[in-house]
Amino acid sequence: MSRRALTEQLPRFVGYRLAYEGIVKPPLPINLTLSVTNLCNSRCRTCDIWCIYPAEKERLAEELTVDELERIFQSIGSVYFFNVSGGEPFLRPDVVEIVRLACLHLKPGVIHIPTNALMPAKIEARVTEMLEGFDRWGSPGVKLTIKPSFDGVGADHDRIRGTPGNYEKLLDTIGRLKRLKQRFPRLGVGVGTVVSSFNVDRLADTIAQARRFQVDTYISEVAEERMEMRNFGREITPAAERYRTAIRLLQEETFRRLGEANGLELVTQGIRHFYYDLTTRWLQHRKQILPCYAGISNVHISAYGEVWPCAILADSRSMGNLKEQGYDFRAIWHSPRADEVRSGIKARQCDCPLANQAYANVLMSPGALAQVGGVILRAKMSHAGQRLRGATARLRPAVSGLSGESRR
Ligand code: SF4
Repeated sequence: MSRRALTEQLPRFVGYRLAYEGIVKPPLPINLTLSVTNLCNSRCRTCDIWCIYPAEKERLAEELTVDELERIFQSIGSVYFFNVSGGEPFLRPDVVEIVRLACLHLKPGVIHIPTNALMPAKIEARVTEMLEGFDRWGSPGVKLTIKPSFDGVGADHDRIRGTPGNYEKLLDTIGRLKRLKQRFPRLGVGVGTVVSSFNVDRLADTIAQARRFQVDTYISEVAEERMEMRNFGREITPAAERYRTAIRLLQEETFRRLGEANGLELVTQGIRHFYYDLTTRWLQHRKQILPCYAGISNVHISAYGEVWPCAILADSRSMGNLKEQGYDFRAIWHSPRADEVRSGIKARQCDCPLANQAYANVLMSPGALAQVGGVILRAKMSHAGQRLRGATARLRPAVSGLSGESRR
């Protein structure tokens, strides 16, 4: 988020805080995730979304059409973060049109699209269309970030993603996106790892490879059981101790980068560093570590029009279905059912380490922000200390040379 955008969005954050306390109605969300399809050509060991259509073919026709989506976007107004989710988003033939409509009505500052990277040429073509379209669509300042999934090196990646040849296609996709970025600097290229019981012990190799990719961002999330992914009972979440050991490497990396970062990069890296602590604590205690603002600052719309507070709770705590409410998002957002869902979340009836939500929760928590500030301070002091030691070491030979000369 740019400094200007942060200032512009500040009143919303105040509104979210008051809404959490039940003092005012929740303002409209700042962060919208839309599952554009449940189709997926991966066969991941951590997710069973791909099983939906082989079992229930007729449900594909129930996915929201672009006309329906346009009506929904019109009723939401502006959001800052627009996350295009799936399934595999690039399997949706009209994904570019959906993004165009989002630009027109939601006016997002950031559009984020994860991908399984199985269709490098198609991904490149669609992303190019988006990048060429933003100015025409009235979104000259929007930033587009594409995040291919990266769960292990070589055969490990293919095994976890359940798709032979996926790693080669991942490399191809990253290469194409990085070349595109040279033409369109607004494109952000990242990779993301889902840390699960299948790869936690090899995370050091994965992090080292992510560094070699030389992409803009590397993000890791812990694998959790989500109703959306139909993966309950899979035991995919790594044990706390194994995660803590593995994630230390990533924290060393974020700590080092914090020492060199400035401005908003400093805040982003600081929150990321803190998120790894939060996740470790969640794995140990399995309870909400910070108050959760899902269903207040953030919202998720399913491919069938269900309004979820988050992908973890999904249909179990749907606030309503947009098709049944005449595509009127606000009617659902301010309904008694939505309030009931929020009360359950506030009563801490659920818990999870969902990264997208955790970042918003950190921003809403003065205590957490103070801890992020503490990490930043420590990183800066450590960096300054290192530079001082380096300068002293460089000066030492010169000083001893001078004193040798003066003795002569
Ligand atoms: S704690 Fe997790 S599961 Fe509960 S509402 Fe927040 S994001 Fe969803």
